[in-house]
Amino acid sequence: MILFIVALMNSYLKQHKRLYRMNLKQVFHLVFLCCFFLGSIFFSACANPESLPDASPNPKTIVKVPSNYKNIVTWGKQYKLRSRWVQKDKKMNLYTASDVVSFEAESQKVTINDISFWISYPIKSANGTMYMHQQDISTCLEAILKPKARSQVKIVALDPGHGGKQPGAVSGKMQEKTYVLLIAQEVKRILENNGIKVVMTRSSDKYMGLSERPAYASKQNANLFVSIHLNSAASSKANGVEVFTTTPSGARSTNPDRSGSRARTAGNAYDAYNSLLAYHIQKELVDQTRMTDRGVRRDRLAVLINTKMPAVLVEAGFISNKSDQKKLLSTSERKKIANAIAEGILNYNKSISSSKSDSLSSSSNSRRNITQIDKL
Ligand SMILES: [Zn+2]
Repeated sequence: MILFIVALMNSYLKQHKRLYRMNLKQVFHLVFLCCFFLGSIFFSACANPESLPDASPNPKTIVKVPSNYKNIVTWGKQYKLRSRWVQKDKKMNLYTASDVVSFEAESQKVTINDISFWISYPIKSANGTMYMHQQDISTCLEAILKPKARSQVKIVALDPGHGGKQPGAVSGKMQEKTYVLLIAQEVKRILENNGIKVVMTRSSDKYMGLSERPAYASKQNANLFVSIHLNSAASSKANGVEVFTTTPSGARSTNPDRSGSRARTAGNAYDAYNSLLAYHIQKELVDQTRMTDRGVRRDRLAVLINTKMPAVLVEAGFISNKSDQKKLLSTSERKKIANAIAEGILNYNKSISSSKSDSLSSSSNSRRNITQIDKL
């Protein structure tokens, strides 16, 4: 191609002698620049086949996307994230230095390092790229990949569900209230071994009202609130672990809303930190217990909506499922659950203390730094 252009220019210049004599150097310089420019385009396209092109610049092909949706690729580019189609227009991955986030068109589930996270609005695929609702970008992507620094957690409020006259889920002789207290006591021990003070909404088989629990945590100046429960379902097949945060304002919950109101509540002040804490606990639960990943979910639960600190509710397995029940009855398996919850809290603590706004990574790699967890 270069030779062709040079030959063409040479023939043209021979016919225009004056120009040939006067500007020969400049003209060849121009030819060189043209060739270099065309060559660069050609080679960059060949060398980087995995890169996802931006939305098409051709106005005829641009599909209008709601203004509250943002281009995921453009969002990622500001942090130098790499993007790649896994399946053109259907599945896309974003990569940080150590994390992989997977998106699927029309789905309300994204996965972050293979952990499911149920967002509030479906992902959209259009114009050769993917779009995410801006509220989900801030309460999921930014919350987990780019957490804002916050003062360290010094006091954790653990809230074993139910108690006293309220057994919670029941399966035969097995009552939820008994096992969540056992798990919470283990979490307490591990956190205290790692220098964190723990307050418990209940340390024995006593009843406490739902609104009293977050109020007690506030009174004790806790920095985090972690409620621990066990799940139950009509189908004995339902199994696995999930962690709930309160639902961001205006959005639908992952499960159908009970109250119908989607108004902003006090708990929404911590949406991003709620998500970050839920992600770290869910990741450890799945990694350490090998129970089914049901994901981080959103629901306006009574103990979460007005909690004046980052707060989550852990559902640590199904009492109504044989496989989960077996684990919950085993002391060593319960310790794994407790270990995972504690380690999730410690990883959260680490992620808000390190300056990650530049590095953009959710992987704290903090396991090596946590003492005494493996001694359980
Ligand atoms: Zn419960």
